[in-house]
Amino acid sequence: MSTIFGKILSGEIPCHKVYEDEKVLAFLDINPLSRGHTLVIPKEPAETLDQLSDESAAALGRVLPRICRAVMAVTGTREYNVLENNGPGAHQVVRHVHFHIIPKPDRDQGLGIGWPARQIDADAADLAAKLRAAVASGT
Ligand code: 5GP
Repeated sequence: MSTIFGKILSGEIPCHKVYEDEKVLAFLDINPLSRGHTLVIPKEPAETLDQLSDESAAALGRVLPRICRAVMAVTGTREYNVLENNGPGAHQVVRHVHFHIIPKPDRDQGLGIGWPARQIDADAADLAAKLRAAVASGT
């Protein structure tokens, strides 16, 4: 399914480009939460992070810290959030993997987060064992 980011990648619609290589594009968010809010996307058209290839994931991971450093240096911000939403229930609007780099210059700008923490589940050891097995099998 073609998305707005697919159209940016094909050049059909413009963006304010921040970085590009063979597998990754970064550009300014059109409705920033703060100055310098940047989106970093794989060129591979995966909808959610779990669907992304190891190659694209590695390419993203390699450049994310460098782009964070650039955003912080240019905006003069020291604190920031990196956010990646998966699925509409988790606030994903554009169905193409994207990492938000969102400077947090002060309390009123940038990302606001609800964090409804609770006690860890009683079966945490069993849960972790199941997760280890799933990771190992590449599920
Ligand atoms: P999501 O909620 O899917 O994680 O975030 C999608 C982001 O894409 C939003 O922050 C939104 O402002 C941004 N966005 C949507 N359409 C465009 C566009 O056409 N150009 C740019 N640069 N950003 C966009």
